[in-house]
Amino acid sequence: MLLEVHNLNVYYGAIHALQGISFHVDEGEIVTLIGANGAGKSTTLRTISGLLRTRTGYIRYKGHDITNTPAQEIVKMGISHVPEGRKIFAPLTVRENLLMGAYTRNDPNEIQRTMERVFTSFPRLKERINQLGGTLSGGEQQMLAMGRGLMSRPTLLLLDEPSMGLSPILVEEIFRIIQEINQQGTSILLVEQNAHMALSIAHRAYVLETGRIVLSGAAKEVAENPMVKAAYLGV
Ligand code: ATP
Repeated sequence: MLLEVHNLNVYYGAIHALQGISFHVDEGEIVTLIGANGAGKSTTLRTISGLLRTRTGYIRYKGHDITNTPAQEIVKMGISHVPEGRKIFAPLTVRENLLMGAYTRNDPNEIQRTMERVFTSFPRLKERINQLGGTLSGGEQQMLAMGRGLMSRPTLLLLDEPSMGLSPILVEEIFRIIQEINQQGTSILLVEQNAHMALSIAHRAYVLETGRIVLSGAAKEVAENPMVKAAYLGV
C-alpha cells in the first residue's frame, strides 16, 4: 500500500466534516473519491497533505505514519497537492509558478530537467513560459497548477477537481494527461464531481456522502452501481 488512511475524524469547529474515513491507494493506481458538494472530498485531501489535523485514526505513506505531519514535510516525502480552484500565483510568470513547486529541491539542473518533463506533458505552458499566471485561461491555469504540483517530483499526486469550470474538450484533455502522468509512474488520488470522467480513468473508486464512505470498489463496478448511476451519473 502506498497510502493508507484509517478512521479519520476531522472537524471545523463544531462541524464534523469527516466521520471515520478509511481507504487506500496502491502503487501505480488512480483512485478516485467522488461525491456531492460538501461530502468532504477536499477535506480528505487537505488532511493527507498536512493542512488539517485529524482527531483520530492514522495516515500511513510507504508504511510510515505521517498523521498530522506539517505540509512542507509531506511535500518532501513525495506527496503533492493540486488544490481546488488551482490557486496559482497570478502576479508570477508561468516559469516562476513552476519554480515555486520545486521549493523543496535545490539542484538547479535537476529542477530544469523536471521542468522540461512538465513541458512534455503540457506543451502549452512552454509556449507561455513568460506569461503571467493570472492572464492564463482557465484550462491553462489548471495545467499550470498540475505542472507546479509535478515540480516536486511526487510519488503520489492529490488532484482536487481538475475538471472544474472547464469546457468538455478541455476536460477530455486534462483527463488524458492525468492518465499519461499515471502511466509514467505517479500514483494519483483524484477528487471529482465529474463522476463520469473520474470513473472512466480510475482503477478504483470510493463514494463519499456527508463525511462517510458509502461505497467502494473497482471503478467499473462502481460506475454500474444503480445508486451511483442515479445520483452521480444522471442515468
Ligand atoms: P466541494 O465539492 O463542494 O468542494 P467537498 O466534498 O470537497 O465539496 P469539503 O470542502 O471537504 O467538501 O467540505 C466538507 C464539509 O466541511 C462541508 O459541510 C463544508 O461546509 C465544511 N467545511 C469545509 N471547509 C470549512 C471551513 N473552513 N470551515 C467550516 N466548515 C468547513
